[in-house]
Amino acid sequence: VPGFSPEAARRDVPILHRTVNGRPLVWLDNGATTQKPRQVIEALAGFYATANSNIHRGAHTMAREATEMYEAGRAGVAQFLGAPSPESIVFVRGTTEGINLVAQSWGRDNLGPGDDILVPVLEHHANIVPWQQVAKETRARVVPVPLRPDGSIDQDAYADLLSMRTQLVVLSHASNVLGTVPPVKEMAALAHRYGAKVLVDGAQAVAHFPVDVQDLDADFYVFSGHKIYGPTGIGALYARPEVLEEMAPWQGGGNMIESVSFERTTFAPAPHRFEAGTGHISGVVGLLSALQWLSSFGRSAVAQYETQLMTYAQQALTAVPGLEVLGTAAERIGVLTFTLAGRDPADIAGWLDRDGIAVRAGHHCAQPSLAHYGVQAAARASLALYNTGEEVDRLVESLLRLQKSD
Ligand code: PMP
Repeated sequence: VPGFSPEAARRDVPILHRTVNGRPLVWLDNGATTQKPRQVIEALAGFYATANSNIHRGAHTMAREATEMYEAGRAGVAQFLGAPSPESIVFVRGTTEGINLVAQSWGRDNLGPGDDILVPVLEHHANIVPWQQVAKETRARVVPVPLRPDGSIDQDAYADLLSMRTQLVVLSHASNVLGTVPPVKEMAALAHRYGAKVLVDGAQAVAHFPVDVQDLDADFYVFSGHKIYGPTGIGALYARPEVLEEMAPWQGGGNMIESVSFERTTFAPAPHRFEAGTGHISGVVGLLSALQWLSSFGRSAVAQYETQLMTYAQQALTAVPGLEVLGTAAERIGVLTFTLAGRDPADIAGWLDRDGIAVRAGHHCAQPSLAHYGVQAAARASLALYNTGEEVDRLVESLLRLQKSD
């Protein structure tokens, strides 16, 4: 891809230069978490070394500086997502917390008996369980949207399931198991015709292709910093300003109030009333650095490179006897979840680990996705911008050796 060099990205990421079990590391567990460039590591360390302070309440220079850094992070996330204003961004621990915030705040106030929440079968548990919990409380219904055999969402079934009872449609912008990228914009437009709100789980999307929440017309969009080359423990929730304005706080404490008395407490405006307590200030600084690092490569160049690498990997894996990839939809990110005839997925991961290759094995927190293919566990290789064709070759070579052993 012209103008993009995975080698340049690799040079920035120190951990990619370590060995595992005597072999150079091949990190193919990017769906679980991504590795960090030194720019992010230095931004985190630099905050503690030179700027550490709590934010918002202090009346001294460093509190002001830390507050400016934190709010610059908010503006950076807003810009990155194409959000209309920094105030539409709430900092959270990650995707899971962002979804729970919407379920507990928006969900409790807007769901009731007879209301439907549509949830595609390919969702991560983080985008299923919070809805089951709030549905139980409010006596709403969680309605699964079925998949086609290729792992794409069945759009006819989706259109049939939508009704005036539908209050909310939730969906992943990219599946962590099947890689499927659904037509979010079209699905959101259809949901809006019924007056339903749309929540998009961007955990697996934002690192791989450009996202514009206004173009998608999403009401909520969530992602995790650690899956986009940033720190753990920080993520962001975008909410459409008119919707956020109406939402009640979900956790109480410092930083989120306007005034407190035993007679009456009033809350700060959004987004602050959703950020009770001391947030992950250094995490925000690290996250901004990660977004800048990723953006410096050009978002569409990264997407193009990853698509090329994915095509190469799909082709290369066909050489491995007995290997079956789950999820073959046309629109996909670089996630290859596979089974090998006669092999336990945990044994596949163990074998690859001995060769220095990190893949995940298990249910990937998406048991219904695997059940769709009649399996309980699978191995998963997930690609990122710093992976190379040579690394894919090492994966294939190791799997070929495994299939020839015993
Ligand atoms: N949704 C999807 C699609 C994911 O892949 C993940 C992480 N595997 C999550 C949600 C949860 O993210 P986190 O653990 O960072 O909250």
